[in-house]
Amino acid sequence: MLDVVEKVLVTQEEIMKRCAEMGKQISEDYKNKKEIPLVVGLLKGSVPFMAEIIKHIDLEIQIDFMDVSSYEGTESLGNIRIVKDLDCSVNNLSILLVEDIVDTGRTLKEVKRMLMSKGAKEVNVVSLLDKPERRVVDIEAEYVGFTIPNEFVVGYGLDYDQKYRNLPYIGVLKREVYEQ
Ligand code: 5GP
Ligand code: MG
Ligand code: MG
Repeated sequence: MLDVVEKVLVTQEEIMKRCAEMGKQISEDYKNKKEIPLVVGLLKGSVPFMAEIIKHIDLEIQIDFMDVSSYEGTESLGNIRIVKDLDCSVNNLSILLVEDIVDTGRTLKEVKRMLMSKGAKEVNVVSLLDKPERRVVDIEAEYVGFTIPNEFVVGYGLDYDQKYRNLPYIGVLKREVYEQ
């Protein structure tokens, strides 16, 4: 374990087990709906989670990625910018959006609204983590890996200052890392 990590909240084994469960659930749900989703990862945080969960989705899916950034210093809605757009059109597609964490919910709400405005048929969300205590907009992911308390976490895609995305577990950093 890196010496900057105070404690591990979710282990690699727990994440892998949960990805298998969620992938199975997603496969069943979409088979019932007779839909094949375009699986869209939000860069960069979703990458390790996306790589793990798609192995358990038993459908002929395609994958794509998009990157959005939120404008700093504003609390208003409608404030995200597309940094990297999808390669293909979403018109009439069923989208399964893959996120690392739902925190305030603002990013998700905006990305969902944007995809719907571009003609997507439906947008469902699978998120590795959920921090419901921090929610400020009314949105929930359809599939959640783990619900966590209001702590800033890193690892398995999640960064602090662009670092620690490669940790194979979800952890909480030591205070001195933020305070140095
Ligand atoms: P939201 O728009 O729901 O507030 O949060 C969107 C983004 O904030 C997440 O995709 C993630 O990049 C970042 N974020 C929220 N909570 C955490 C956290 O606990 N740790 C890290 N590393 N990023 C977080
Ligand atoms: Mg994210
Ligand atoms: Mg970040």
